[in-house]
Amino acid sequence: AKDSGRDTIRFFTPDMEILANNKRQILNDIRQALTNNEFSLHYQPQIDLATNTIKGFEALVRWQHPKRGFILPSEFISLAEESGLIVPLGNWVLKQACLDAQKWPSHIYVAVNASAVQVERSDFLAEVKKIMTQTQLPYHRLEIELTESTLMANDNAALSLLNELKAIGVQIALDDFGTGFSSLSYLRTFPLDKIKIDRSFISLLESDDKAYAIIRTITQLAQTLHLSTTAEGIESETQCSILAGLSVNYGQGYLYAKPMSAEETLIFINNYQA
Ligand code: C2E
Ligand code: CA
Ligand code: CA
Ligand code: CA
Repeated sequence: AKDSGRDTIRFFTPDMEILANNKRQILNDIRQALTNNEFSLHYQPQIDLATNTIKGFEALVRWQHPKRGFILPSEFISLAEESGLIVPLGNWVLKQACLDAQKWPSHIYVAVNASAVQVERSDFLAEVKKIMTQTQLPYHRLEIELTESTLMANDNAALSLLNELKAIGVQIALDDFGTGFSSLSYLRTFPLDKIKIDRSFISLLESDDKAYAIIRTITQLAQTLHLSTTAEGIESETQCSILAGLSVNYGQGYLYAKPMSAEETLIFINNYQA
């Protein structure tokens, strides 16, 4: 820490210093982690509610830190975004997800989260194409999940990117729909395939009439616009049957499975029964 003699103005309280040091440490650790292969992917299935079959898996990044142990994305994604390290991390995620998806039956897709920082980069499309060529995964087996704030932050760039992704056959899902700065104009402007209804609505479904009404309205709107819908965070059979009754297409959540390792997906695919 800096010497704080009597003539020095202290901009940082000790707590802030610790925070800043922690942050620097975590950034160094993320760099290290990329070279030391400390990241891994877990996968959570997305189930067709009408047929009870597996449609795809969402890739969710995990970090096995040598000292701090297992770390969830909520603890490092935003730092990775701030620092730009999300670009190499995101490319690693995309490539690993495509490699793992190659081991699944060909009707099963993989969904990958992309953050605003990646989408902003002019070479994002080129990276996607390069990785898909390297891994030989057909474009239609990749789905990219984006949030509304990502689209809002780069509307012009995002629009042409999405048009190009769509043109090569990559699917686009709008993640966490209904939270943040929801604007229905996104649904009209961007070439989306799917809306993922945020978990916060699903968890209120059984107790709150308004949550039910919101989901019903989102579903009807999606149908009118020829978009499919996924409900995230389904934890109970009751939620599942209400959502199926509302004609929500797909479901994801602990009711079906928690995120699992790539090896476990192969067992899950073999054992999943209606
Ligand atoms: P998300 O995209 O909304 O992912 C769904 C999160 O909900 C996951 O948390 C998942 O484990 C959790 N979840 C799934 N089903 C249930 C359920 O039934 N109940 C409850 N309570 N939770 C459920 P996770 O894996 O901790 O990921 C958190 C967020 O981190 C993700 O939210 C996503 O925004 C971000 N993230 C994860 N992997 C990546 C990545 O590779 N790249 C980027 N940019 N972001 C990622
Ligand atoms: Ca997601
Ligand atoms: Ca989500
Ligand atoms: Ca969410």
